[in-house]
Amino acid sequence: MRTLGIDIGGSKIEYIVLDLKPFRIIDRQRYKTPRTRKKVLELLDSILRLAVEEYKVDRAGIGIPGYIINRRIYNSPNTPFFEGYKIYNWIEKQDIGIVVENDANLFAYAESLLGAGKGYNPVIGVIWGTGIGAGIIINREIYKGFYGSAGEFGHTVIKPNGRKCNCGKHGCLEAYAGGGAIVKRFHSLGGSKKVSSVEVLVKTNSKIARRVLNEAINYMAIGIANLVNIISPEIVVLGGGLSNIPNIDKKLGDKASKLLVKGINIEIRRNMLGDSAGVIGAALIAKKE
Ligand SMILES: [Zn+2]
Repeated sequence: MRTLGIDIGGSKIEYIVLDLKPFRIIDRQRYKTPRTRKKVLELLDSILRLAVEEYKVDRAGIGIPGYIINRRIYNSPNTPFFEGYKIYNWIEKQDIGIVVENDANLFAYAESLLGAGKGYNPVIGVIWGTGIGAGIIINREIYKGFYGSAGEFGHTVIKPNGRKCNCGKHGCLEAYAGGGAIVKRFHSLGGSKKVSSVEVLVKTNSKIARRVLNEAINYMAIGIANLVNIISPEIVVLGGGLSNIPNIDKKLGDKASKLLVKGINIEIRRNMLGDSAGVIGAALIAKKE
């Protein structure tokens, strides 16, 4: 059985064709994300056509940054052309079954079945990149909640009337610990304007860089501790660009554990599937539905 997984991100669109028995990736490709919805849908059409004709794929999973309520996509500031879009109108025109799922959910799903969260239950997968999100996996299933937005913890408020967030609200965790927020804070404290990403910022290892990173880690620890207090997972798997900071899993684990209810020492571990977790999750969810 073969499935297609597609991961739509703000900067790249990736697909894989997955053979499930034995488990192997038989094709994969990356593209720069087009800037208009029309162009993105054209690209998706061509990927689907290729997968069906060449690889006889009969199901597909698509990961999007955002979530779906009443068949519309919401909260997708990194792919603004999808905000409010009725994606099922497009899906219903396709010849094969397609499942659409939030990208953080797919990251968590793949890591819980095949990666750092394998054998643990529940598993929370946290994406820490430009944006912040989480997927909650209970008994090997994605927990979506009534509205489908479970795990949107980047938009939990940690400062009343605080900084403006990409989502339009104020004081969200993402506005304090998200990659974009970290770079902005670095600039506001006098850090070089040439630094435009957290990766570069970490490499400068300047006093300002260490200060803003430390602040962000403290906020992130608060966010994760809140999440752990509510869900009580056995493990938290960390992904996204900021999970590559050396020893970040241990630092966050130590800080978050101090904020938790007594008796819990939460295990936070870096992901194992790397950049591909989302797209693998998309291909795996396709098989299931
Ligand atoms: Zn927000």
